[in-house]
Amino acid sequence: MKNLLHKLPGFVFRAHPAILMFHSIEDQPGSKLAVRPDFFEHQLHTLVSQKYNVVSLESLVEFFRQKKKFPPKTVALTFDDGFKDNYIHAFPLLKKYRLPATIFLVTTWIGTKEYLTWDQIHEMEQHQIDFGSHTVTHPHLPSLSEKEVFWQLSESKKILEENLKKPSQILCYPFGGYTLETQRLTKEVGYTAAVSTSSDAFSPLDDLYALRRIRISNASMGFGAFPIQVSGYYSHIRMLQKRFKFYKTQLKQRLSVR
Ligand SMILES: [Zn+2]
Repeated sequence: MKNLLHKLPGFVFRAHPAILMFHSIEDQPGSKLAVRPDFFEHQLHTLVSQKYNVVSLESLVEFFRQKKKFPPKTVALTFDDGFKDNYIHAFPLLKKYRLPATIFLVTTWIGTKEYLTWDQIHEMEQHQIDFGSHTVTHPHLPSLSEKEVFWQLSESKKILEENLKKPSQILCYPFGGYTLETQRLTKEVGYTAAVSTSSDAFSPLDDLYALRRIRISNASMGFGAFPIQVSGYYSHIRMLQKRFKFYKTQLKQRLSVR
C-alpha cells in the first residue's frame, strides 16, 4: 500500500512538457487538422500571458537527453507537412509573440502548390523557426521495406542539411506510424529524436523516439480544452482514459463469458 502511494503521485501528478501539434493555420470549416488564425493567435496569447515556458523542440529534446527536470508549464510548438499557410498566418504571429517552433517538411513537397518554398523556409529560419524531417514522400513507414525506410529517413535528412543553416535532427513519423524497427533505423540514421502523432501511447513518456504530441484543433477552443491540453497533465489523462477503456472492455468480456 505504501509503495503504491509513493508511485501514484509520480505517475498521476508529475507534469510533463506538452508538445503541441498543428498542421494548417487557416480557416477551413469542418477540417479536423486546420486551426483558424484567430484561434491560433488566442492560443499563443494564452501561452504568453499565462507565462508558459515555450521552448524549441530541440531544447526540449536536450532536456530529455540530459534527464534534467523540466521547468513547470513547458510547451513546444510543432507543425506537420510544411503548409504555405504556416508562413502566411502562423509565422507573423510567432514573430509577434517571439515564440520558437519546429516545422516538419516533406522534402518532395517543398515549393509545390500548397507548401512552403525554400525562400520562405530560409526567411523563417532567421526567426527561431526550426525545420525537421517528415521524410521524402510522406509514406506510412511500417508498410515499407527496411531499405525504403532507410532511404526516406536518410535522403530527407541529407536534403535538409544541404539547404538549411541549422537543420533539426528530429524526425516526424508520417501518420504517426512507427514500429520498434522504425525507431531503430531512425537512431541509426542519426536523428536525435522522433515525434509521434499520439498523446496516449503505452510507451514510456520519455521515449525519445516516440515523443507524444497533443493535437490542437479548432475544438481546442471549446470547454476550456486548450488549458487542459497545455497543462502538462494531458498525456497522463489520456493514458488513464485508455487504461480505463481497456479494463472496461476486459470486464465486459469476462462478464459476457459468464
Ligand atoms: Zn504529415
